[in-house]
Amino acid sequence: MGNFDKSKNAYEKAVDLMPGGVNSPVRAFKSVGLSPIFMESGKGSKITDIDGNTYIDYVLSWGPLILGHADDRVVSKLKEATERGTSFGTSTVQENKLAQLVIDRVPSIEMVRMVNSGTEATMSALRVARGYTGRNKILKFEGNYHGHGDSLLIKAGSGVATLGLPDSPGVPSSIAENTITVPYNDMESVRYAFSEYGDDIAAVIAEPVSGNMGVVPPSEDFLPELRKITNDSGSLLIFDEVMTGFRVGYNCAQGYFGVTPDMTCLGKVIGGGLPVGAYGGKREIMENIAPTGSIYQAGTLSGNPLAMTAGYETMKALDESSYEDINRKVDKLVEGYKRASIDFDIPLQINRAGSMVGFFFTNEPVFNFETAQNANVDYFAQYYRAMIEEGIFLPPSQFEGVFMSTAHTDEDIDKTIQAVRTAFSKIEK
Ligand code: PMP
Repeated sequence: MGNFDKSKNAYEKAVDLMPGGVNSPVRAFKSVGLSPIFMESGKGSKITDIDGNTYIDYVLSWGPLILGHADDRVVSKLKEATERGTSFGTSTVQENKLAQLVIDRVPSIEMVRMVNSGTEATMSALRVARGYTGRNKILKFEGNYHGHGDSLLIKAGSGVATLGLPDSPGVPSSIAENTITVPYNDMESVRYAFSEYGDDIAAVIAEPVSGNMGVVPPSEDFLPELRKITNDSGSLLIFDEVMTGFRVGYNCAQGYFGVTPDMTCLGKVIGGGLPVGAYGGKREIMENIAPTGSIYQAGTLSGNPLAMTAGYETMKALDESSYEDINRKVDKLVEGYKRASIDFDIPLQINRAGSMVGFFFTNEPVFNFETAQNANVDYFAQYYRAMIEEGIFLPPSQFEGVFMSTAHTDEDIDKTIQAVRTAFSKIEK
């Protein structure tokens, strides 16, 4: 790997301009002891920084780029769309096209509303759940991240977990007290919460595979049991599929596990790398949203034609075989990690659901936020820096998964496994 002089200079300027020099905390690379790497371009599975270093990319903009960077099909349609105008603030047929694909592929979605981010999707879904049920409380899981809406920033995963932050200042206690938080995969706690507050729980919101405390799949009964208890008590079940949607499988995590929630939040892949989120569900619920109903939610740029085009072209390029291809590559990567962990005597737990995969530096099973904390973050930081040196770009946190695209080649995987072996051989214990 070459040097990082230009990134370092850019960062020195950026820290004066933006908090921490970044527009989203995980980009600061703080927990791995590096400073931000400024990117210039990407093509396929590769990404290049402003110093000219090229990496095999397993961040993929944190998930959206399931076809890899600058996919020709997406870029050419985006160019055409841009020439026609970037935004109208009116309806366009591109919105119908993406909405139809989403409805066709997501079992729980009969109607959908497009927004601009995953955060907006979850915030809006909660408002709808509260408005629809007339109840106040929501139940979420420790280490699940649902964006930075006030009600959801309690015991959250992702950057909140990476930076080891307690619950965020700025969230009023009157809001926090309406959020009940229990451990992931722990039905006993869920049952207890329902026995105490059941009549006032508007919704249970869950990542059907948790991807924001590292990857933590649901235990076998967890999602069916959540479905049952919410049905029995008149609460809505909301799956936050912002990360899992069209990544775990062709019909999202709900198709993969065969559990259909009342509402679903989407983001990332459905925007194909442009800012998009969406929430949807049963028609009888969604028709309560303005202008058909009185629950208000709106957006100047919602359903933006460029974003809809990138999302539609990305989704159209995916079929069942895309997931078989991605899964096969993940299988191969997992094998390589397993062998390296044995050969170099590195403690490693590999958690996986479909193409979502995460590696924890611990010998103990990881099934919730508490057990995720057993992972050795010092080993992770050493491994991370060595992987950067080897030209492999990973999410800079022990508490994130890795993302694979259809554009990654077998050669990429081979190189990555070789890099893992080098990195593991260098870890100082
Ligand atoms: N929900 C989940 C499961 C996520 O992983 C994320 C972001 N990583 C969000 C919500 C928030 O999405 P956004 O960053 O687009 O606001």
